This record gives sequence, structure tokens and C-alpha cells, in this order.
Amino acid sequence: MADSRKPMVAGNWKMNGSLALLKSFSQSFVSDNNAEVVLCVPSPYLAAASRSDFALGAQDCSQFVAGAHTGDVSVDMLKEMGVEYVIVGHSERRQDHGESNLVVAEKVKTILQAGLIPILCCGEPLEVRENGDVNAFVADQLAAVKTVCTSDFLDTCVIAYEPIWAIGTGKTASPEQAQEVHGFIRKMICEWNPKAQNTRLLYGGSVNASNADDLFAKPDIDGGLIGGASLKIDDFAAIIAAAK
Ligand code: PEP
Repeated sequence: MADSRKPMVAGNWKMNGSLALLKSFSQSFVSDNNAEVVLCVPSPYLAAASRSDFALGAQDCSQFVAGAHTGDVSVDMLKEMGVEYVIVGHSERRQDHGESNLVVAEKVKTILQAGLIPILCCGEPLEVRENGDVNAFVADQLAAVKTVCTSDFLDTCVIAYEPIWAIGTGKTASPEQAQEVHGFIRKMICEWNPKAQNTRLLYGGSVNASNADDLFAKPDIDGGLIGGASLKIDDFAAIIAAAK
């Protein structure tokens, strides 16, 4: 694995957690040099979370740089808080806020222009998998970004493949199912930009302390985007240890 594919584990707290939980993370969290660890906390906790054992991540940002967008958060504000990574296009944003592939692509562009690193989420709903259209669905999600950003976005961007049917359901894609899609994504993005051999591809969807080893052992899975298990310190630490 090339250096730029250092394993990565990103925790996504979503709209969960508390200052007390953050404090206990800060007291007991042990960083691991094998993997880059990112903690994506809710925006109000960014100031309290800023610390050196892990990189700080945000869960979303505006596609606009500034202005009359009540409730939104700009990339410059995130940068001021010490944020390095921004999750973008998470299926919950796409579902809850109607974010289209184009809006997601514009957000990726804004994040890159600010010098931050997008963790770009893609992944299919169950019916798409049942119809056998997974590759085409994921390809459309990622291709939209290429139309707005050019294929250079792959020099920096992290991609997270998260089948929607596996998110928060306890139903994980098998390592083989996950690798199949990761292998497809790798091949496609390398055709767009040969340097994408070094682009990190994370798997997300009910990763836990018991299944992380087998998932992360697959050749095109460079780590995980972790929801529920990132709220439990021991489980999150075990997942980080699995990312070698
Ligand atoms: C996520 O929301 O990105 C996620 C992968 O959640 P969970 O691990 O809880 O399935």
C-alpha cells in the first residue's frame, strides 16, 4: 500500500454524544500510529474536541463560502476551528436535506478550495442492490463530482462507500461485497486519474469491533467510516487497532 493510503478510521457521531462523552474520549483515547484517526463531532462540539491525538472532522458544510444561509456552516469557519476533514454527501444528508449529486459535488469543490479534505460518501439503497445496479448508481454519484471539480479531486479526496441498507442497521456488507464495490470504484477512478491508486477508500455501514478486521483486510478497503461504534470508546479503539 502506498504511503498516501495510510489506513484511516473516521468516527461520525452524527447528532449524538455530549460534552461529557467528549471529555471521556479525551481522557481515555489512545492514538494509534498505524492509522490516521478522525473524529467528526457535531459542530457545537468542535471547539471542545480540538486535540492532537486525532484529526478533527466536520459532518457537513455549506457549498457557499459565506452569506445569507441561516443555520449553515462555512468551510472557513470549520478551518478556524481546526477542522481538517469534512464528511460530504452522507446518505442522511441526501435523504434528510434532499442533497443532490450536484450539490454534493459543489460542496466537494468548496471544501477543496478551502484546503480541507472531503470524505465523500456514496452508496446505494437496498432496492438498487436488489436490482443489480450498484456500480452504475455509485458511478453516477462520483461522476457528478468530476463534472464540477475535474479529476484532480481524487488527489486529495477520501471516498467512503456506505451501502445505505448497512448504515445503522447492524447489517454489514460482507467483506466480499464491500471489496467488490471498492474494487469497482478503484478501477473507475484510476481511469479518471491514475493517481487515484493512492486515493483512500473507506467502508462504512455497521462496522464494529468484531467485523473490522475482515473488512479492513480487503485490498481496496483502506479503513472505515464508523457511526454507532464511534460513540463507544472501547469499540472505537478496537476498530482503530484493526486498521493496519
Ligand atoms: C455512518 O453513518 O456513516 C455509519 C457508517 O453508521 P453506522 O456505523 O452506525 O452504520
